Amino acid sequence: MVGTRGLEDIRLCPIHGYYRGERCQCGYVGEIILDRVRVERLGRFISGILRHFPDKFGLDMDENGWVDFGELVKAVRKKYRWANQWFIKAIVYSDAKGRYELRDNKIRARYGHSVNVLLSDYLPCDRDRLYYGTGEEEAHRMLEIGIKPVNQTYVHLSTTIEKSVEVAKFRTDEPIVLEVDAKSAMKEGIRIVMANDHIALAKEIPPEYIIRVMRI
Ligand SMILES: [Zn+2]
Repeated sequence: MVGTRGLEDIRLCPIHGYYRGERCQCGYVGEIILDRVRVERLGRFISGILRHFPDKFGLDMDENGWVDFGELVKAVRKKYRWANQWFIKAIVYSDAKGRYELRDNKIRARYGHSVNVLLSDYLPCDRDRLYYGTGEEEAHRMLEIGIKPVNQTYVHLSTTIEKSVEVAKFRTDEPIVLEVDAKSAMKEGIRIVMANDHIALAKEIPPEYIIRVMRI
């Protein structure tokens, strides 16, 4: 089953809460809360709503990407009758990629938006260097016109070379990594914010801040 490859069930540890995979970090094998097929379906739907089509389900999204959690649960239950708020929380809290943020009964995606969000409450980037993994052809173009988002509101930059290679490998066997002088860019007025520990976001990175090209 190609569609579920690499996916894991969500289980519950009495000490560490929701986790993905068979065993918790402590070794405990909890009972399955949500099987991998449902994790995939529900995860795809929730991230779709929060990143791309809140309007389609009548959800009000504020300028920073927040929607009311109760309203999201209702929207999800219209499509998946079996779902409930605990399944959605299980997805959010076990997500190792930090895709979501849930607090004060509001939820949002931390990155990946195609809807226009300001994310004005995000912390500024605290890294001097950031990395962007891509293919050969795109890399050449970016050295001329800069790094711009494709089908997304923001460019997603990685905080480490390793992460940028991981991203690039979805699209190419021969990744090129562009190193970005985030510190100078920010000093000169380019807004770069942290989505989570691995991802920083910018509207675009002009070519003068690409300071190194690495062939991996
Ligand atoms: Zn545990």
